Amino acid sequence: KQTFVVVFGDQLDIHSVALRDDGKPAGLVWMAEAIEEAEYVWSHQLRLAFFFSTMRHFREELKQAGYEVMYREISARKKKGEGYGLMEMLEIDLRAKKIKRVRCVRPGDWRVLDGLRKLCKRMKIELEVLEDKHFLMSVDAFGDWAKGKKQLVMEGFYRGVRKKYGYLIREDGKPEGGEWNYDSENRDSFGKDGPGDKMSDPKKFKLDRISEDVVTMVRQRFSCHPGSLEHFNLPVTRKDAETYLKDFIANRLKLFGKYEDAMWEGEAFLYHSRISCLLNVKLLDPKRVIDLAIEAYRNGKVGIESTEGFVRQVAGWREFIRGIYWLKMPEYAKSNALKCSEKTDVPGCFWDGETDMKCVADSMKHVIDHGYAHHIHRLMVLGLLAQLVGVHPYKFHEWHMGMYLDAIDWVSLPNTLGMSQWGDGGVVGTKPYCASGNYINKMSNYCKGCRYDPKLASGEKACPMTVLYWDFLGRHEKQFEKNIRMKFQIANLKRKSVSDMKMIKEEAARVKIELLRKPDLG
Ligand code: SF4
Repeated sequence: KQTFVVVFGDQLDIHSVALRDDGKPAGLVWMAEAIEEAEYVWSHQLRLAFFFSTMRHFREELKQAGYEVMYREISARKKKGEGYGLMEMLEIDLRAKKIKRVRCVRPGDWRVLDGLRKLCKRMKIELEVLEDKHFLMSVDAFGDWAKGKKQLVMEGFYRGVRKKYGYLIREDGKPEGGEWNYDSENRDSFGKDGPGDKMSDPKKFKLDRISEDVVTMVRQRFSCHPGSLEHFNLPVTRKDAETYLKDFIANRLKLFGKYEDAMWEGEAFLYHSRISCLLNVKLLDPKRVIDLAIEAYRNGKVGIESTEGFVRQVAGWREFIRGIYWLKMPEYAKSNALKCSEKTDVPGCFWDGETDMKCVADSMKHVIDHGYAHHIHRLMVLGLLAQLVGVHPYKFHEWHMGMYLDAIDWVSLPNTLGMSQWGDGGVVGTKPYCASGNYINKMSNYCKGCRYDPKLASGEKACPMTVLYWDFLGRHEKQFEKNIRMKFQIANLKRKSVSDMKMIKEEAARVKIELLRKPDLG
C-alpha cells in the first residue's frame, strides 16, 4: 500500500520516527504550506517567513537524504485552484495518488490531529500516529506521572526527568552543586549601569535564495499581516541552527541564569538563547541542547546556576507544559477561571506598539521586529497587562500564536492561557502572576524614561500597570483570598480605603478604554 508520510511545519526532524520503516523510507513525504495556517490567527510576517523557509530547506534536506517529497508551495502570485486548508489539500492529494495509508508523528496542535483523524476516517484511510521521539517524555509517560496527583507541580516532574536522563546528577545520585534548583540565583537585575559591553549579540545569518523567495512571497501575499521582515536573520537549516546554539553556549549561557529575569530598554535578547523557535520546529534536538550546556559546565566555562536554569527550561518546563497540553485538551482551551468576557481582546498597542507605556512599547518593539520577546517581557509586561485588563485568555493565546515565532499550540496554550493569564485556575501555576509597576521598575530601566510613575495609582502620572493591578485585585478579592500564596497581596489590598479603591476603579475604567481601542493599521 502506498503511504503518505505527512510532515507538518513544526516537525522538521530528519530523525523523525515517521520517516523510516524497517530501515527504509516509509513512504512518500507530503508537506504543504497552507494559507489557512497563516490566517487562522493573524500571523506575523516574520513568523510566516521563518516557517515557510525552514520547511523549504527541510524539503531539500529530505531529498538529499534520499526521500521522495511531494511539497505544495504558496506562490508569490495567487494561482487558480490554489488550496487553502491543510486538510483540504491533503484530501485532494490522497485522492489523486490513491493513497491508502497515512503516517505521521503526533502533531503539535490538537486541532490538526483532530482534523487528520476525521479526514482519514471519512476517506477510510489507515492512520498511524507515532509518538514524537523529539521530546524527552512521551505523552503516556506524563499521564502515568500525573495519575492520582491533586496538583501537578513542575519541580517534581523536572527532578524525575533529570534522574531518568542523568542530567546534572552526581555519581552519588545527588544533584550537581548540591541543589536541585537555583531559581533564587536567577533573578538579578542589571542595576544602574545596565548590561554594558559584556554582552554579545546572537549570531546573524544571511538570506539564501530560498529565504529570499519566501520573503518575496510573504511580502506579496501577506503584506497586511502584522510585524516586520527587516530582521530576518535566523538560521533556517539544521547546520546553521547548531552553529547558532554553539554561539549561545560559548558567549551568553554564562550570564543567562543570573539575568534571566532582567530587562533593559532596546535589548531584545540580552543573555537569552532565542533557540525556542529552532527547538519547536525541531531543527534542534533538546538532548543535544542539554548535552552541550552540561559539557560547558563540566569544562568549567559556565556556573551551575546558569546551567541548571537553562536545563530546567528545556528538560523541565518545556516537557511539563507539553504533558499538561495533551493531558487536558481539548477542554483546556475553554478554561476561563477569571470569567473574562469573550469580547475583551488584546490591547490595540499589541499590534502596533503605539503607547506611552515605555515597558509595553519596548517589549512590543521586540515582538514586531523579531517575533520574539524574552520570558519576562511576555509574562511580566505584555502578559501582565493583558491579565490586568481582563483580556479573554484564549484571545491572548491567539494573539501570542500569531505574533511569536516559537508559538505552537502545545507550547503557547498552557503558557498563555495557563501560566500567564491564570485562565486554567491553577493547573500550571499555583497563583496568578500579577504585579504592579514596581516589579517592572525593579527589573528594568523602563520607568526612568516613562511619563508615568510606577508608585502612583492616581493622578496624571499614575502608572497604568499599578492602577490596573489594584483594580484587578479588587475585582478578584473573593477568589484569591483563600489562596495562601496571595495572602500578602490581599492583605495590602485590604489596607486601601474605600475612597482610594473608588478612585482606582474610575481611573482603571479610563485606562481600559484607552488601551482597548482598535489599532489604526492603515
Ligand atoms: Fe511601565 Fe508603569 Fe514603568 Fe511606565 S511607569 S515603564 S507604564 S511600569
